[in-house]
Amino acid sequence: MTALKPVPVPSFDERTPAPGAGQKRLAILGATGSIGRSCAQVIAGSPDRFAVASVASGRDGAALARAALALGADFAAVADPAGYADLKSGLSGSGVEAAAGADAVVEAALRPADLVVSAIVGAVGLAPTFAAISAGRAVALANKETLVCAGSLVMAAAQQAGARLLPMDSEHNAIFQALGGRDPASIVRMTITASGGPFRQWSAERIASATRAEALAHPKWAMGPKVTIDSASLMNKGLELIEAHHLFAVPAERLAVVVHPQSIVHGFIAFVDGSLIAGLASPDMRTPIAHCLAYPERVHSGAVAPDLASLASLTFENADLVKFPALALAISALAEGGGAPTALNAANEVAVAAFLDGRIAFGAIVGLVARTLEAMRAAAEISIPATVAQALAIHHIARDRTTGLLA
Ligand code: MG
Repeated sequence: MTALKPVPVPSFDERTPAPGAGQKRLAILGATGSIGRSCAQVIAGSPDRFAVASVASGRDGAALARAALALGADFAAVADPAGYADLKSGLSGSGVEAAAGADAVVEAALRPADLVVSAIVGAVGLAPTFAAISAGRAVALANKETLVCAGSLVMAAAQQAGARLLPMDSEHNAIFQALGGRDPASIVRMTITASGGPFRQWSAERIASATRAEALAHPKWAMGPKVTIDSASLMNKGLELIEAHHLFAVPAERLAVVVHPQSIVHGFIAFVDGSLIAGLASPDMRTPIAHCLAYPERVHSGAVAPDLASLASLTFENADLVKFPALALAISALAEGGGAPTALNAANEVAVAAFLDGRIAFGAIVGLVARTLEAMRAAAEISIPATVAQALAIHHIARDRTTGLLA
């Protein structure tokens, strides 16, 4: 009998740094929002693992100053110049550099960092994210507009610059983990789940006249108001299908949505051999955030993995495209491609804001988006954007069209 020879253990990934290789430097765009605050919690749980180079936010200068101080950032940029005075006074005497405007946010994205977190809500997040990707930076993506508004351009730029994209949205993060580097050509179907939102069991008539408070009462996730309304209409799931199409290079016809009210399974992939690999986690954004921040390592997130025996049952049902026409509209925009998802997203932003302001009924949101797309098609305004500037031009035309239809 011969003794077993020791076998060298391969590391999980050649990018895994040696223990003690130092802190990962982060640039956090959207430091004051829901994702940014969860990032701060994960970072606080592993202070030896992360250092924050820069932070940025949309408009709240005072909150950004507090985030910059709490995270120990060197540079803070607020996109809206109106937020500069609050940022400056909040940082006075701290030595943290303050700046304002769109260019300052791009500068925050390009400060030396190992990972850029893209979590600024809205189209204002697109330019700095695109700049970071074009510079070859690793980017953790939570900003939807980057892929919905300009997905083909962003993915081409990432490939050209060798930038790694890490999906921070819970569904895409679960899919990314389930995919584990397997060949996209072996995928039969890629499915993201929807909790179904607060109106899952409501009638179409009742949904149409839902109040602001009812639409904001999401059963599973605590998120910002825009994405919460999109979760109630299932538009959010449609936007996520568009993101998945770009991120994972899977054609629209192989993408699907399944309603799963428990929000434990966030996504799953069926492969040609009949295997189904799913990504499970508790409905807590700290898990995908920690996964992206530490990738390819793992850190404590503060969340714990679901206890399946105590959950007892996980249920799944097909999404009702009649009751949730926003999802159907997004699926058709995905199939149409080009500038259609760009226009859909922009029109939806204006329509959701109008609902939140009490100007239109919940049921009117999707109609307004559909009429915007029709008007733009009739005017030949939905071209295939060849540059980010062209994508943003379609975005702004759609916003103006929707605003016009509201008047
Ligand atoms: Mg999501």
